[in-house]
Amino acid sequence: MFTTTRLKLTGWYLLIIMVISTIFSIGIYRLLTVEIERGLRMQRYRMEFPGRLPSSRLFPFRGVDPELLIEIKERIIWRLVGINALIFFVTALSGYVLAGRTLKPIEEMVEDQKRFIADASHELRTPLTSMKTENEVALRDKLLTIKDAKKLLASNLEEVDKIQRLSNYLLTLSRYQNTASDLTFEKIRISQVLKHAVDKVSVLAKKKKISIQKEIEDIEIEANSVSLTELVNILLDNAIKYSNEYGTIYLRTKVRKTSVNIQVEDYGIGIDPDDLSSIFNRFYRADSARSKTSTDGYGLGLAIARSIVDLHNGKITVESTLHKGSVFTVSLPGKHTGSTI
Ligand code: ADP
Repeated sequence: MFTTTRLKLTGWYLLIIMVISTIFSIGIYRLLTVEIERGLRMQRYRMEFPGRLPSSRLFPFRGVDPELLIEIKERIIWRLVGINALIFFVTALSGYVLAGRTLKPIEEMVEDQKRFIADASHELRTPLTSMKTENEVALRDKLLTIKDAKKLLASNLEEVDKIQRLSNYLLTLSRYQNTASDLTFEKIRISQVLKHAVDKVSVLAKKKKISIQKEIEDIEIEANSVSLTELVNILLDNAIKYSNEYGTIYLRTKVRKTSVNIQVEDYGIGIDPDDLSSIFNRFYRADSARSKTSTDGYGLGLAIARSIVDLHNGKITVESTLHKGSVFTVSLPGKHTGSTI
């Protein structure tokens, strides 16, 4: 698809340049021939009336050697054709290269979209296939009891939950990837954001008997409260998910002169160095995470986190040691000169 488009674009570049070049060539040809005719007329006049100079620029003498003129015109035409042929080849070559460069980011975006749709469809198909199979088997079972039917419905609900979770993730991701200008930024207290995020994961933490230790330097920052809460929530949720029972998670903020750092540290399963560069990609899940949490997760949380950080012109980094734990650090820009709250 992109080869045809590239060729078409090259064709357009070529057409534009060649139209301009032809117009210039015709202009140059006309200008040169007029001047040459004039020069020849002058020469002839000097030869016929030696010593007499022309009194005006419009030379009155009409006699020009027609053969010489034709020869000169032909030579000019061939020169111009040669120059235009050179322009044609140079433009064709550079146009093809330029068209490739112009189309490259679009091609990458389309590829990315295709991959995203394929991954999303795959994730949707898994629970749907499982539900379909279970229902078909149940329908064929002539001795299906109420108890079996209820079990089936419960299992179906679990699958529906998964689909719902996935669609929520996808909606959140598309919201933060498309609405840079829609987000309203206001002055918010960082401690408030962290409190909301911790409240949201408290049930999950309690379930695994994990304690969340806060070491907060509070300050007011310019940010979008809802998305920032979501970002901290994702990091805490992962820290809990990938920690063992009775673990401890540290949630810290550090105020720097030109930024505020939010840090989530856990002592869980850690991340393989080979996976570190990919974990922020959509649908990426490290093998260690797959085996530990089986189907719990779609690999979209950190992609959403990165989109939110990008919207705040911040940076997100991770340091991790396999089987030891991970530290995620979000650095949000902003000048902070006064004391912390
Ligand atoms: P999900 O957690 O749903 O799989 P994420 O996008 O949040 O998706 O994370 C992507 C991957 O990064 C996870 O599958 C896991 O392999 C790894 N990961 C993220 N956070 C942690 C963490 N705190 N500890 C270990 N691995 C993590």
